[in-house]
Amino acid sequence: MQDQFGRTIEYLRLSVTDRCNLRCRYCMPEAGVAELAHSDVLRYEEMLRVVAAACRLGIRKIRVTGGEPLVRRGIVSFIDQLAALPEKPEITLTTNGLLLGEMAEDLKAAGLSRVNVSLDTLRPDRFKELTRRDGLEKVLAGIAAAEKAGMLPIKLNIIPFADFNDDEIVDFARLTLEHPWDVRFIEFMPISSDLDYASRDGLSMVAVETRLQSLGELEALPYQAASGPAHMYRLPNAKGRIGLIPSVSGHFCGDCNRLRVMADGRVRGCLFDNEETDLKAVLRNGGDDSALEQLLLDAACAKPEKHQINSKDFATPNRRMHGIGG
Ligand code: SAM
Ligand code: SF4
Repeated sequence: MQDQFGRTIEYLRLSVTDRCNLRCRYCMPEAGVAELAHSDVLRYEEMLRVVAAACRLGIRKIRVTGGEPLVRRGIVSFIDQLAALPEKPEITLTTNGLLLGEMAEDLKAAGLSRVNVSLDTLRPDRFKELTRRDGLEKVLAGIAAAEKAGMLPIKLNIIPFADFNDDEIVDFARLTLEHPWDVRFIEFMPISSDLDYASRDGLSMVAVETRLQSLGELEALPYQAASGPAHMYRLPNAKGRIGLIPSVSGHFCGDCNRLRVMADGRVRGCLFDNEETDLKAVLRNGGDDSALEQLLLDAACAKPEKHQINSKDFATPNRRMHGIGG
């Protein structure tokens, strides 16, 4: 599957729910969200049909996301079904880690290769302040369980903010000295002006790199497609790696290979672009697989050349991040 700019589309992000068991201040309002009506959310068998069609068109990697994907009932057997598709796509998952401790082994057995765990602070008081819930211990136990289950390398995703967790950048980076993990810093994307953290300053990756200098010289590692848009580095003698993802300041749209399917059955070609294609009508009105494939091809074709987040004409996306899936 190619888009009109010659990019090969082989990575699908699938949001299985917009619900979540945390309320991160940069992602969700305190009261939670008006949840999608049950009937508006794709059933697993509908999602499986979409993913099967996407795999026939060349998708090779699926990232299950949300909201929090592990809160949706039946997720383990759904992953089992995804992993059993004839094309044997790689199945990965992005999670806040709260439920990982109790689910990691079953997820691995179902065919999940790896997890990305989002964790912005290592301090319990800050965790509670940011997510409006307790749970740091559970997340750390979840990471340990994922590692024990063999979902390697563990990837941690951190969004650094000025005057919130910027003094922990070095602490996170030090984790790579002892653990074979990918510790990845990601720029905050100010896409929802109504949220608590909308006006907080996210740190640029240049600023993160400067903070890391106190730990010694960072060795730049060769580009690997598996690292996506992350620039990868290693500290002297470290077991793990550090990733810097300049999602706002960087220009990696030229290599974008993604489509995003959301829980309500719409497909987006770009996180920041409101253009969407609706799959639900075809799924529910007896449309055949070729009609479904055509809609996915249309969505790929509608991918914009690049995002406009740095332009003065940028229009805020009409969904928050928990609805798109990151
Ligand atoms: N609940 C899961 C989690 O937190 O990993 C999966 C969904 S969450 C929407 C996916 C990712 O989006 C998380 O790593 C989260 O930190 C990130 N995210 C949410 N809002 C963001 C924003 N405004 N800018 C950058 N990343 C954001
Ligand atoms: Fe939930 Fe993930 Fe959003 Fe936090 S970032 S509120 S864990 S969906």
